[in-house]
Amino acid sequence: MCLACNSKTFAPSRRSVLLGGLAALSASALPAFAQEHAAVSPDAALKRLVEGNARYVAGQRTNTDFSVGRAARALTQRPFAAILSCADSRVAPELAFDQGPGDLFVVRVAGNFVNDDGLASLEYAINFLETPLIMVLGHSNCGAVDAAIKVVRDGLALPGHLPDMIEPIRPAAEAALAQSPSDPLGPAITTNVQNAVTRLQTAEPILAARVTSGSLRIVGAQYDLETGQVALL
Ligand SMILES: [Zn+2]
Repeated sequence: MCLACNSKTFAPSRRSVLLGGLAALSASALPAFAQEHAAVSPDAALKRLVEGNARYVAGQRTNTDFSVGRAARALTQRPFAAILSCADSRVAPELAFDQGPGDLFVVRVAGNFVNDDGLASLEYAINFLETPLIMVLGHSNCGAVDAAIKVVRDGLALPGHLPDMIEPIRPAAEAALAQSPSDPLGPAITTNVQNAVTRLQTAEPILAARVTSGSLRIVGAQYDLETGQVALL
């Protein structure tokens, strides 16, 4: 199965998949698509996110016609950034960074922590789609982190599978309660993002090697629900 294009044709390498996909584009679609989706450095990818967020905050989004490039996107994808975001409905990465379909590879889980499934998805983006940047995106007033604090501090018992969501956040909640017992939520959100960044940076064998070689950068950030602004941590 061709991992980069979801077809069942055998592909010898990821690069040939990408090049094959690009070569298959129509002559009219190729220039704009190739230019927009040419390989970018990790720093250039981060700059693109920062500039997109500035447009979003200012109410000047440019990615609003999602039919543009649809035919080209059907053949391949090359997202320039991967986002590990909370599942909170108020945090919408494509909107917050003013990007269109095909631009961002988004993995979402309440509490934006790293689990094996999410890590595998991110490895797919980095290994097969050559995405140069991962951003772990926490946000203000995160309910998942707040729940983890209540579990640790108050002994809150959660039903169903919800305890599985708490455990990965627990170390950040415990650290924040020790550091700032009267107002632990903000520090816990920040520490939880930093923990995820560290986990990804040291994830062998794929991500850690790419970080060491400089072809991948992993950053933490926080989305402010009130302003829409994303601040790098
Ligand atoms: Zn959240």
